[in-house]
Amino acid sequence: MKAFRFVEWQQPGELRDVPVPEPGPGEVLIKVGGAGACHSDLHLLELAPGARSFTLPFTLGHENAGWVETMGPGATGFAPGDPVIVYGPWGCGLCMNCRRGMENYCETPGKPSPGGLGGTDGGMAEYLLVPSTRYLIPLGDLDPREAAPLTDAGLTSYHAVKRSVHLLGPGSTAVVIGAGGLGQMAIQVLRALASATTVVAVDTSQDKLKIAKSMGADEALISGEDAVRRVKDITKGGGAELVLDLVGVNPTLSMAAQVARVLGHLTIVGVGNATLPVNFSSPPHECAVASPFWGTIPELIEVISLAQTGKIKMLVEHFAIDDAAHAYHQLHEGKIAGRAVITPND
Ligand SMILES: [Zn+2]
Ligand SMILES: [Zn+2]
Repeated sequence: MKAFRFVEWQQPGELRDVPVPEPGPGEVLIKVGGAGACHSDLHLLELAPGARSFTLPFTLGHENAGWVETMGPGATGFAPGDPVIVYGPWGCGLCMNCRRGMENYCETPGKPSPGGLGGTDGGMAEYLLVPSTRYLIPLGDLDPREAAPLTDAGLTSYHAVKRSVHLLGPGSTAVVIGAGGLGQMAIQVLRALASATTVVAVDTSQDKLKIAKSMGADEALISGEDAVRRVKDITKGGGAELVLDLVGVNPTLSMAAQVARVLGHLTIVGVGNATLPVNFSSPPHECAVASPFWGTIPELIEVISLAQTGKIKMLVEHFAIDDAAHAYHQLHEGKIAGRAVITPND
């Protein structure tokens, strides 16, 4: 089968021919409908040789949805043809966090090892081997080609918003920095979970801000000093209860610290890996800084429920697997409006 793979450090991914995997005991083979191309793949491909302990090559793609193809020996609960989305951060299944459904925070060394990110094969191929049925969530009427990004862009944004919902009552403000795939999701999740809050989107691109508005942002601001002033105006000088930085580079983190509020949440989701200076007066007093990674299995079930009831929808652009390299190039150039999704079986 065709697979788009991470072959060489600091090189673009490559299309290769690999064998179709055989599901072992408890495993499930998925026929891939859609595999999202994520910014973190670009960061991964740019790593210095040996920066991570995993070995190359492996197949990219950690935002996967499709149809059950074959159930491995002893695997139960699903049948061939069932449309499913795949939970991405694969943990040990046995530690306390895993048993709480938080496999994103598995406590076993070397885990979680998400397919497509950590050395095991992901879904940018005709078929994906999933280690356990506990990672499969039924999609119902949702099309796997449209739904795939919900398992990362959707779930990551959902988790980052949900942990701060108690701060977002009437009169509150949430600032979303970065209106790409994750930001667009965060705006819709804020609308769904915190309907009274004022949502402010910030980006460098006027096109992305237009999309942010159409997805429910009350204000859309071009990054810069004026945006900082405007947030201060909206919040009567106090700052925002929640600032989500979905980019994580120096200018965005600096803005986040300037517009966050005393007792607020400054949440870093973007993997830009810049540094946030922390001292007595900045970020504001008792403003909690967190860097959540992905989300939990129960939260993915909630994300799918929101999508099934039409409350969130990912803007997707489809690419054939032969065009996967092109999709990543477009992503790198900032030319993907929402999420690029590779459809290996179309
Ligand atoms: Zn991702
Ligand atoms: Zn675990």
